[in-house]
Amino acid sequence: MTDKPKSFGRKSIIASMQPRELMTQNPALAGIWTAHIITLFPQAFPGVLGESLTGKALKDGLWALDAIDLRRFGVGKHRNVDDTPAGGGAGMVLRADVVADALDHAQKTARGNWPIVYLSPRGKRFDQAMAQSWSQADGITMLCGRFEGVDERVLEDYAIQEVSLGDFVLTGGEIAAQAMIDAAVRLLPNVLGNQASTEEESFSNGLLEHPQYTKPAEWRGRAIPPVLMSGHHGEIEKWRREMSEAITQKRRPDLWRDYQAKKSK
Ligand code: SAH
Repeated sequence: MTDKPKSFGRKSIIASMQPRELMTQNPALAGIWTAHIITLFPQAFPGVLGESLTGKALKDGLWALDAIDLRRFGVGKHRNVDDTPAGGGAGMVLRADVVADALDHAQKTARGNWPIVYLSPRGKRFDQAMAQSWSQADGITMLCGRFEGVDERVLEDYAIQEVSLGDFVLTGGEIAAQAMIDAAVRLLPNVLGNQASTEEESFSNGLLEHPQYTKPAEWRGRAIPPVLMSGHHGEIEKWRREMSEAITQKRRPDLWRDYQAKKSK
């Protein structure tokens, strides 16, 4: 086990077997949107976030990631982080004191508007509005649970917001954390090449996106809708809007109701 924090971003452009210093402690990088992830599996980060647009943005220093190993804060010779549930039952629960030490460490470099989140199936369902609001914060601290979860007292004491990826149970919070960070990071300025693409995509205007097509113009006897080939920007926009509305109405009556309510206001 290593006591060194694992960090990513500008400082890890050059591959190295040796984890480098915590990049968020570098004053030159202060001010960058940073995700502090408390996890028993820091090696799972940046994971898929290291690829493609989020990965390039990470290397370019448009955001930073600090995976904090919960094990470092464990108690005793074996650095225990969990124990059996009070009242009995299956599995193990992450200890409040251990999680609190990790949270205190994470919050040392937090500043300004900095939500603290626990990934949890009991939480509020994550959505685009949450991604939007997190991307406008200065950074975020995320606690990834494992086993049966976390001692309730630490959630209360730190007024942690519980957020769920959806109505299913994962083995740990890491995949949920990566999904949510991806959604937030792509909304940061300059992360996507084409800023306009976040304004038109699904959910940003309360609708699902229209269908997309590309070459070839005909494939297995299926042509691209002629209006898209017409060059009439007004007509194309109208068609896309109509398709968006039709798809939303059919697939997501819940979104459609909200959309209509907003429109009639
Ligand atoms: N006993 C818990 C489930 C624990 S699953 C319960 O019934 O509610 C282990 C860990 O996986 C959790 O602590 C949480 O951090 C993570 N996790 C599981 N499902 C999740 C979901 N839908 N969204 C976000 N995190 C989840």
